[in-house]
Amino acid sequence: MRLANITNRLTLVTPNNEIVDISEETDGTFSPAIQECYDRWDELLEVSPSLHKVAGKPLSQVRPADFGNPVPQPRQVFAIGLNYAAHAAEASLPVPEDLTVFTKFVTALTGPYGNITLPPGTVDWEVELVAVIGRGGKNVAAEAAWDHVAGISVGQDLSERTRQSSGPAPQYSLAKSHPGFGPIGPLLVTPDEFDDPDNIELGCAINGEQVQKGHTSDMVFPVPEIIARLSTITPLLPGDVIFTGTPPGVGVGRQPQRFLSPGDELVTYMRGVGEMRHQIQARS
Ligand code: ZN
Repeated sequence: MRLANITNRLTLVTPNNEIVDISEETDGTFSPAIQECYDRWDELLEVSPSLHKVAGKPLSQVRPADFGNPVPQPRQVFAIGLNYAAHAAEASLPVPEDLTVFTKFVTALTGPYGNITLPPGTVDWEVELVAVIGRGGKNVAAEAAWDHVAGISVGQDLSERTRQSSGPAPQYSLAKSHPGFGPIGPLLVTPDEFDDPDNIELGCAINGEQVQKGHTSDMVFPVPEIIARLSTITPLLPGDVIFTGTPPGVGVGRQPQRFLSPGDELVTYMRGVGEMRHQIQARS
């Protein structure tokens, strides 16, 4: 199943790439607010086969501006640092033996298309697989963890490196939470839609030049292991978001270093999910 948040309404994308308004088709059984569907994930899975038969308008006719974040108001946002060995190496940091976890504050989240304004400092890109929790839980076993994932999307863990590395302890959470620093979308895709949900290609490009390309099979802690380890400490709630770390190719690891500039176009993709497109702009 593939979902989208179109004109702020919970929308199903059929295998024919047509869009169906789930609230309308279910006579209001489901709220149009997409965040609420994660609390009723099993019910949505039950009705989805009948919704897939409904004829809708072509997805291709939806304007980019009408796509929102498919998970706009999670109660918890987790982000994993240094989860690809080659990225740890370019950051001159050791590969972690356990999860390195921070948050992106919810106000940083945004949709898959539009403008992102640069704050002062040095802003870097980080394409990441985003996992959204469907069934919550504490102490989830890794073997069962994919059953707790509602869907997968692609995100950017945009990072202001100057603040991130200043002070006596890293400021990951704050430096990665400026408004617009957490775009997600355009689609939320259930794990069963992928040939192998543990091996998906993702990447990003600046002004047409590919700067990151990786496969999630290179994660130090794969998605099920992240869920298992997080949930030993923190109960996971329906609709929670997990940014799962970035493959190599970020700007801070380059010689010379490179950061986003006003006028840049950042295109971020994951196979099976689609691509996001953002224009980077200066503060006015
Ligand atoms: Zn990251």
